[in-house]
Amino acid sequence: MIINSPQNSYDIVIVGGGMVGATFALTLSETTSKSNLTILVVEATAPLAKDSIESNFDSRSTALSLGSKEILGESSIWSDLYKNAEAIRSINVSDKGRLGTTTISSEEQNVEALGFVIENKDLGLTLQNRLTASPKIHFLVSANIKGVTPRANGMSLRVGRGESDWIVASTLLVLADGGRSPVCRDLGISHINHAYNQHAIVSNVAFEKAHEGVAFERFTDTGPLAVLPLRKFETENRCSIVWSVNPDESDEILHLEEAELRKRLQNSFGYRLGEITRIGRLGCFPLNQVLAREQIRPGLVLLGNVAHTLHPVAGQGMNLALRDMQSLIISIEGGFKDGMDCGDMRVLQRYMERQSDDQYQVITFTDKLVSLFSSSAPSEMLVRKFGLLSLELFPFLRKTLAKKAMGLG
Ligand SMILES: Cc1cc2nc3c(=O)[nH]c(=O)nc-3n(C[C@H](O)[C@H](O)[C@H](O)COP(=O)(O)OP(=O)(O)OC[C@H]3O[C@@H](n4cnc5c(N)ncnc54)[C@H](O)[C@@H]3O)c2cc1C
Repeated sequence: MIINSPQNSYDIVIVGGGMVGATFALTLSETTSKSNLTILVVEATAPLAKDSIESNFDSRSTALSLGSKEILGESSIWSDLYKNAEAIRSINVSDKGRLGTTTISSEEQNVEALGFVIENKDLGLTLQNRLTASPKIHFLVSANIKGVTPRANGMSLRVGRGESDWIVASTLLVLADGGRSPVCRDLGISHINHAYNQHAIVSNVAFEKAHEGVAFERFTDTGPLAVLPLRKFETENRCSIVWSVNPDESDEILHLEEAELRKRLQNSFGYRLGEITRIGRLGCFPLNQVLAREQIRPGLVLLGNVAHTLHPVAGQGMNLALRDMQSLIISIEGGFKDGMDCGDMRVLQRYMERQSDDQYQVITFTDKLVSLFSSSAPSEMLVRKFGLLSLELFPFLRKTLAKKAMGLG
């Protein structure tokens, strides 16, 4: 429920009501065994208008893996999202201008779908509506964290909104405030930042032909281009694109006339879906890998982009954050059974032990994929060519890759 002023203390305070913070709050509140668990979500922005695509939920889309769908299905979130999601029936991987292409299909993998694509505005509105309707969650919007101090049993926060200012105690502070966290800076938690020298241009694009549930991952000389299936809008066959290009090219692309832009995109993507008939508003995101040097402290845990921001090439950022979130909830629940509170360092260490291997693998896999597929070095091009050909020839390799993509590996 939306509140105008917070209580003096909560079991859990979540800073950031974005995709990760909101999902964590909702899943925890619906699945916890502790019926009187108190949860506060502090979000810096104002609530979204019903038809808004602005604010913290932009014109991007998110590909959720099959594993993520299962995690979201543990709470009521998936039942709301499902009607706006488009199933990924197959993934086509190709390298522009070179031999070698492979297709991974849900049929071959014997699953209902490899994943689902959902527009961030739908995801955002669903989560916001749920937070607002939840009787168990206190949701404070247009508010900010002005300071954090560790205390004997958790953290003490100074929360501000307009002229008002409150001191709030939390047993566990969950930071889910995205890639630029002033709270981390305050606490002296630093990040390792690696810039990829690429920008992601994102947009919704209409094509002449229907996508038939195919997601395309195409590697080009400047970087990867993902074309993801979206729900039809009226009669338009829509896809969401994430087009990684170097910063100079992104500047140029952002200033192109639509006809010129269509030509440029068509040249990169080809004619698999026929002519491009329309390109929507463009968004642009500089691409970095940003990793927190610490993810836990007594009474504190980092979730989502503030813990690890990844290149979107493999669409893993949110999917990994959802698995982190699920592991954290399992660890908190385990702690309750053993008589520990949710901010107990032993609980948080159990969480890190559960998740660090998954995090390491996804971070390394994503980073390797970017360097392999963004390079024009002959040796890497050869690896690419044989990589794709081997995938096409050997079903067990496709199965391994499919498991990773589905978040089941
Ligand atoms: C182009 C692109 C495409 C992507 N595609 C995919 C994909 O297909 N699949 C996938 O799994 N992942 C994808 N990702 C990654 C995914 O978008 C991120 O993992 C996800 O957005 C992380 O969410 P978050 O809640 O951690 O951060 P954010 O979305 O940044 O949310 C942070 C929230 O905290 C709030 N906030 C910030 N500071 C404060 C404060 N001091 N006080 C209160 N509130 C605060 C902000 O207003 C915001 O609401 C993609 C990323 C990019 C850039």
